[in-house]
Amino acid sequence: PSRIRVRGIVKEYGVTRALRGVDLDVAAGEIHGLVGHNGAGKSTLMRILTGIEQPTSGTVEFDGDGAATAATSARPGDVRMAYQELSLAPDLTVAENASLSDARRLRPLRWRAQAERRIAEVLDTVFPGHGIELSRYVGELSMAERQVVEISRALCSDEPRLLILDEPTESLGVDAMRQMYAHLHVLAARGVSILLISHRMNEVLEHSDRISVLKDGATVLTADAGDVTEDD
Ligand code: ADP
Ligand code: ADP
Repeated sequence: PSRIRVRGIVKEYGVTRALRGVDLDVAAGEIHGLVGHNGAGKSTLMRILTGIEQPTSGTVEFDGDGAATAATSARPGDVRMAYQELSLAPDLTVAENASLSDARRLRPLRWRAQAERRIAEVLDTVFPGHGIELSRYVGELSMAERQVVEISRALCSDEPRLLILDEPTESLGVDAMRQMYAHLHVLAARGVSILLISHRMNEVLEHSDRISVLKDGATVLTADAGDVTEDD
């Protein structure tokens, strides 16, 4: 049974075919690596999985509660993302960023204290020794610290069904990277499905159960990570 089942996704922007028929299955509790060169269609696929965009045709089903036509059946909270282009507001503090919804609006006051407690908890649990003050402005943090906050914010919500991480380790230090992957394996063991997008093939192979290669808008290879070498 698939947590997400993607079939025949086509996405056209005018005459540009960003996706030409993508199939993807990610099981509950699976870490799935998605690799592909620039322009392969990774970001477009992400936007469709999160429901920000509708496909031209094809289907995305979550846990079998499917859509027969081009639509997604994700409910709010099903999918959480950590973006490569960080989604944090640099002119707000770490605590305030935790209170931002995905739509980048500050949540009502009564939620802010809770959001602040929650991100402190995630930071301390996932990245012990992070040393990031909640009162710091994100714009003053190093890139590595911002990435830690971006990932922590994605991990703050009640457990999503799918967590999408776009190049999450680009700026992370060695310790933070190790800590993040350790936590991802814990989440996966609890049944969270994780889509790990990265061009770091070695890293993807080491930490994924399965991988898919996206090329020119189509999946050209899906395999158990153990069966793939970097040359493939
Ligand atoms: P990746 O994330 O793998 O680099 P993208 O999904 O960003 O790939 O892009 C796939 C293709 O779709 C590219 O040719 C890109 O130029 C095109 N594309 C992506 N988004 C748009 C858009 N909003 N309008 C027009 N073309 C787009
Ligand atoms: P958005 O759709 O703007 O991205 P979220 O996905 O962050 O919003 O939140 C979805 C819903 O989850 C909110 O509308 C609210 O009902 C609930 N929610 C979010 N954060 C909290 C919180 N800290 N405490 C209680 N409920 C929350």
